[in-house]
Amino acid sequence: MEKTSNQNVCALCDDPIALKGDSGEHIIPNSIGGRRKVWGFVCRDCNSRAGDSWDVEIWRQFSHIALMHGVDRDRGEVPAVLVKTVSGKQLMLLPDGSLMPQKITFEKVPHAQGKGFLINATVRNTQEAGQMVRNLAAKHPEINVEEMLSNLKSSSEFLDSPITFGAGFSDPLGGRSMVKTAIAMAAHAGVKPSACDLALPYLLNKDCQASYGLFYARDLVSKRPTGYTPHIVSVRGDPISGYLWGYVEYFGMARIVVPLSDSYDGTSLSSTYAFNPANGKEVDIDVDLSFSDDEIERIKANEAYTDEQYAAVVYSSFGIVYFRSVRRQFRKTFAESVAYAASKLGIPAGEAVPPTQAKEFAGYLTENLQPLIVHMMASGIPIAEAMRIDEDD
Ligand SMILES: [Zn+2]
Repeated sequence: MEKTSNQNVCALCDDPIALKGDSGEHIIPNSIGGRRKVWGFVCRDCNSRAGDSWDVEIWRQFSHIALMHGVDRDRGEVPAVLVKTVSGKQLMLLPDGSLMPQKITFEKVPHAQGKGFLINATVRNTQEAGQMVRNLAAKHPEINVEEMLSNLKSSSEFLDSPITFGAGFSDPLGGRSMVKTAIAMAAHAGVKPSACDLALPYLLNKDCQASYGLFYARDLVSKRPTGYTPHIVSVRGDPISGYLWGYVEYFGMARIVVPLSDSYDGTSLSSTYAFNPANGKEVDIDVDLSFSDDEIERIKANEAYTDEQYAAVVYSSFGIVYFRSVRRQFRKTFAESVAYAASKLGIPAGEAVPPTQAKEFAGYLTENLQPLIVHMMASGIPIAEAMRIDEDD
């Protein structure tokens, strides 16, 4: 990656970047998996002030989808996100796409026969269970810790409905982040941010009207991957028409066209950065940023879509994301079931199962897998899809 000259001024505050330091700006926010950086674009102060508050909004809006899809960041763990099921249960959606109770619960119920009491508890893992049982034993010496722990029953929670999300990316903060991404891509392709005269005022002035249009009238992307939903940013400059266009797409669902300039006089250019959010691997796709006069009018009026077109795109993209989470959940549960069966038979991790215990092993394995398989069948999820190995996962 080539660093641009020290002469560059910050796109947001006009100060020479060399004065405040150039930390490099992720073209697409790293929170949702962006890796590539642009240098000489914004100063360190603006990057962490304005830039971060806009990018935080992007994470807030896409975090559920990101965790279901899987995202890989440069640095920092992907945080868990609170979700609510249809039945009103609050659960944590984890970076591996699985769910966990939000809180530890503990309930002491008097025994029906009037002697002693029953404990109903929900913990999130065996460490928490062990801690809880040892705490109890400290108060009640009659408790047999080993026996209690060996009788633990683990259960899995599954989402009982697709989680909800809105078309919130049109929100001012999220919208500014996406427009910033389009301008950053133009800068990466060698265009001065100040030449993005139709879009830059939207970043500089909080009262400025949104400078982009949602676009679902047709698919601008060819060679679209099917096993994941890519993040895409693309720019195209055409000195003959004078148009400099930007396009930003996240998780297949959020798709905007950004008119960056209508007085572009640089060289003819076309540049795209697209990748799989789950592993950062770049993909070669084509984005068609040439629009008819009618489309240009509709983009500017934010009318380049119908509700039906929007719904169809979200439905198909969500399907891809959802089946990714199904495949990950199946793989995780299968690995857990192998560990469960091995521990039941006292077979150390990584050791072969003796043939004499194979049938018993398979029994425990199936016992542990059963809730997930039943859930999948009840939800109409094809088991073959869950077991499919996708090289893009
Ligand atoms: Zn600045």
